[in-house]
Amino acid sequence: LIQLYMPLNFLGTLYREMKQGIVDIEIMFDLLDEEPEIEDRPGARPLEVRDGTIRFESVAFRYDADRPILKCVSFEVPAGRTVAIVGPSGAGKSTVSRILFRFYDVAGGRVTIDGQDIRDVTQASLRHAIGMVPQDTVLFNDTIAYNIGYGRVSASREEIVEAARLAQIDGFIANLPLGYDTEVGERGLKLSGGEKQRVAIARTILKSPPILVLDEATSALDTHTEKEIQAALGVVSRGRTTLVIAHRLSTIIDADEIIVLEKGEIVEKGTHHVLLASNGVYAGMWNRQREAAEAAERLKETVESD
Ligand code: ADP
Ligand code: MG
Repeated sequence: LIQLYMPLNFLGTLYREMKQGIVDIEIMFDLLDEEPEIEDRPGARPLEVRDGTIRFESVAFRYDADRPILKCVSFEVPAGRTVAIVGPSGAGKSTVSRILFRFYDVAGGRVTIDGQDIRDVTQASLRHAIGMVPQDTVLFNDTIAYNIGYGRVSASREEIVEAARLAQIDGFIANLPLGYDTEVGERGLKLSGGEKQRVAIARTILKSPPILVLDEATSALDTHTEKEIQAALGVVSRGRTTLVIAHRLSTIIDADEIIVLEKGEIVEKGTHHVLLASNGVYAGMWNRQREAAEAAERLKETVESD
């Protein structure tokens, strides 16, 4: 219906913006019912997920012809494991997640899931297999139950509450005047970034996809919220192939592998302890974040003792 009223160039702009933010892209596709740039190949088959192994093989990518963004990026997320990508802003981290979701096709190399090139499978099946928890979740102007239940429309109220409980947002909802029937979004109750992210996690728990992509919020969260989100993510990623784009290194200490991306290239790879010991880029990032956290802690103590 929207298509009838909006000029196409506006739709194009909107689409590009949504792609940038990975803002509930499935919702977006439902609304627009079109994917202007990437199309299914003739005869594309549904993705067959066996154990959900992701492989990037010598992936090259650019948005504009004259500026390479990813250069020969290769890594694997083994089935059921968690791999984290860290690195400075602009390194290409979010681009990796956009490529996995096939918002864009690679310029070189390939991306496979359980051995199937993602260009050979239907986009619907690809996106069905991947749960995205974006940095900034956009909520519908509807009830909180609807916003969580969107993850699986057949879900019962009990299942919605259980998902909220696992996502550590159940207590917050229970204290709202209308509980799960409270209207949220632009025209309803405004939720904080951390609350919205937990709604997105609850939605993803209901969807129960074999593959998860988590883009951590860049904005600082208080320690308590961070711990809650951390616990929620722990629940949802258990046993699933998980790719985390992390800004707070404290959240990925336990990742099976950490990839450090700089200017579109992998410069380091390893576990937290191995990378710390090797005293390179990751160790530098870790020390800077720790010093900043300690400084913030001292400031808080000073304020509190006044
Ligand atoms: P990160 O998530 O590591 O901060 P991104 O993957 O978002 O980095 O972006 C990598 C680079 O690609 C940045 O230099 C960014 O400006 C550029 N970029 C991102 N999206 C586009 C786009 N649609 N068109 C052109 N350049 C883009
Ligand atoms: Mg990013």
